[in-house]
Amino acid sequence: MDPTDLIIARPEGLYCPPGDFYIDPWRPVERAVITHAHSDHARTGHAHYLAHTLSEGTLRTRLGADIHLQTLDYGAAIDHHGVKLSLHPAGHVLGSAQVRLEYRGEVWVASGDYKTEPDGTCAPFEPVSCHTFITESTFGLPIYRWPTQPVLFAEINDWWRRNADEGRASVLLCYAFGKAQRILHGVDASIGPIVVHGAVEPLNAVYRAAGVALPPTLRVTDPEVSPQLLKRALVLAPPSAQGTPWMRRFGNYSDAFASGWMQLRGTRRRRGVDRGFVMSDHADWPGLQKAIKGTGAERVFVTHGSVAVLVRWLTENGLQAQGFKTEYGDEDVADANSPPADVLSNGASGESPPPDLPPEGGGATSRAAADDLSPSPPGGGATSRATADDLSSSPPGGGATSRATADDLSPSPPGGGATSRATADDLSSSPPGGGATSRATADDLSPSPPGGGPGWGPAADTDDQAEPA
Ligand SMILES: [Zn+2]
Ligand SMILES: [Zn+2]
Repeated sequence: MDPTDLIIARPEGLYCPPGDFYIDPWRPVERAVITHAHSDHARTGHAHYLAHTLSEGTLRTRLGADIHLQTLDYGAAIDHHGVKLSLHPAGHVLGSAQVRLEYRGEVWVASGDYKTEPDGTCAPFEPVSCHTFITESTFGLPIYRWPTQPVLFAEINDWWRRNADEGRASVLLCYAFGKAQRILHGVDASIGPIVVHGAVEPLNAVYRAAGVALPPTLRVTDPEVSPQLLKRALVLAPPSAQGTPWMRRFGNYSDAFASGWMQLRGTRRRRGVDRGFVMSDHADWPGLQKAIKGTGAERVFVTHGSVAVLVRWLTENGLQAQGFKTEYGDEDVADANSPPADVLSNGASGESPPPDLPPEGGGATSRAAADDLSPSPPGGGATSRATADDLSSSPPGGGATSRATADDLSPSPPGGGATSRATADDLSSSPPGGGATSRATADDLSPSPPGGGPGWGPAADTDDQAEPA
């Protein structure tokens, strides 16, 4: 670590020493900049929050309507203890942001979670020039290559249409915040009615309030929802609904799971679903490379996912790269590991990892079994460096004895299961859009007095951004 580093890893989270604030901290702190409202990045207990304007609805729904929250639009900047801070689109979920910090001519960007392909439900990812880039690496292995949006939705529509023609409901398990709204936005709603689980609808309301076009959705309790209607319906439910009594009403349904982890055959097998759709809100391997290159950064810190593999790739490509130990997980995994809704509502914590979780760091240093390298989709050729060779040599520090199958790679990045909470149920108890209209108190907005005050700093001049060398 360099004493002039703008962001360092502390036990509480990523910390900016000159600004005296944290980014997505996992322990309670005085000031937290939140990149997005997924549960592993946005936690309760911070005294002051700063996030993008479009994260307000989800943050207040999830963390409480009365949190001290100040919001910023993309590109607007504030000055906090001399650090200029601004938020930039991350293309991950509604309101997701990269955090740009500038101090004495040095520019750092912390990505949070990001996805490089635009999906129509949130502002597309924008590369931000910087000297140092802090990137996620949830899917930082060469085997991860996502189908394009049109290919993905053609597959989902075909599956739904065939089921509808055969008089069977299509139950698609997907994370309730982000993924469900992407599916709603992207499917061909003329195929049949769409029914959503109670955990999904409050988030639909937040997206609709933000102007994102979603087709009409029904709840199973709506009077027009009949057994006859369900035979043609697409049903969106969080993975935690799998195997619960809630599913019984759909009779002889076909089920599917939408997740980046579906690229691995082992995951699909273990989930026990008819279909797996490869769909992620994170960058795939080519996306990570393109995004990192797009920043022009000379130094890269890797926070979560396949840290060692990406660090090694970056180092081989002439960048200064190292891992940052964080407690971020993956929302798909967090949800998949949760007990069913009825268990959670009885007070169980839902924090125990499943028995097949790898040890901490297992995913990053593991070798993938050769047969799991095969499912790469077509079209990955041009930028592809994905060969068995890339995976088979251990990354620096990785033990030659640590060998894992792709099954081990799929379930969880370090800390995922243990630290993440099931958000689907957190969300379902609050009214739709609850708190979305509340505003930050005047106190939050006032410029910070010298030496640090209760809130965040005043607006900074955005036209004055130093260009990194
Ligand atoms: Zn996320
Ligand atoms: Zn994350």
